[in-house]
Amino acid sequence: MEAERLLEEAARRIATSKYCVALTGAGISTESGIPDFRGPKGLWRKYDPEDFTLQSFLSNPAKYWRLHFEIFAGLDRAKPNPAHFALAELERLGKLKCVITQNVDGLHQKAGSRHVVELHGNLGKARCLSCGREYPMGEVEGRVAGGENPPKCSCGGLLKPTVVFFEEPLPFEAFRKAEEEALKCDLMLVVGTSAVVYPAAELPYLAKFKFRPPSPLWFSSGLGEGKTAIIEVNMEATPLTGIADLSLFGKAGKILPRLVERVRSMLE
Ligand code: NAD
Ligand code: ZN
Repeated sequence: MEAERLLEEAARRIATSKYCVALTGAGISTESGIPDFRGPKGLWRKYDPEDFTLQSFLSNPAKYWRLHFEIFAGLDRAKPNPAHFALAELERLGKLKCVITQNVDGLHQKAGSRHVVELHGNLGKARCLSCGREYPMGEVEGRVAGGENPPKCSCGGLLKPTVVFFEEPLPFEAFRKAEEEALKCDLMLVVGTSAVVYPAAELPYLAKFKFRPPSPLWFSSGLGEGKTAIIEVNMEATPLTGIADLSLFGKAGKILPRLVERVRSMLE
């Protein structure tokens, strides 16, 4: 299908959906100047994922905070882009019930989305690993910039950003809510995720087939009968493309505003 017809068909499906949810990944924020992990200019081309495991944080927190500073300082000044605003608009139109995000940048909320489930926490704060006290990230980053590395709590405990590191379990309540939404939806819009980081990547499968398979390989067996439409927006094909009903390839900041504009006119 050529691009315009694909867009039209995607808009029609959204406009006629009963319960649409979105799953977003780092790709929706690249146009806000925040690099993703695996895209063409992704962080893994320069940094080692091993430095972002819980184990490496605990064994060398100062190293983590140095890298954090290089990569994420100033994140609080990042602004939502047209893709975030488009999803917020889709929620205002009553069509999007919830955004499930793997992102830690808080840009959906900044754009005005109200129902946001953060699967991997966020970089807005740091929490003491001993007493649980939380500090605003700006304050902690200021201390690191001033030479306090690793930064400590007033109780002497180590401060860790309130994000999920590799090897850490996801926040229980957020993942439970995400599963509930995936089971409930009749349409899932999947934007800017490489769909390889589990368990977040299993949500589109859960949405489509309404049950948890023994392994992702199960889906290639061809046994699954889809119950929910999946619309994917990404710069490139992903492991999800095979089960997506529609794939819109290109920049989310270009595609989503046009898509939502069409949905809006269909609803009028
Ligand atoms: P990923 O880096 O693995 O994949 C990003 C995907 O987005 C790629 O498939 C890429 O082709 C696509 N993409 C890049 N720019 C795009 C654009 N403008 N429009 C449409 N698609 C675009 O990201 P992921 O799947 O979210 O998984 C990585 C993990 O990285 C997540 O768990 C997340 O917590 C973390 N992360 C978050 C941020 C953030 O909060 N902004 C940034 C980097 C990493
Ligand atoms: Zn403490």
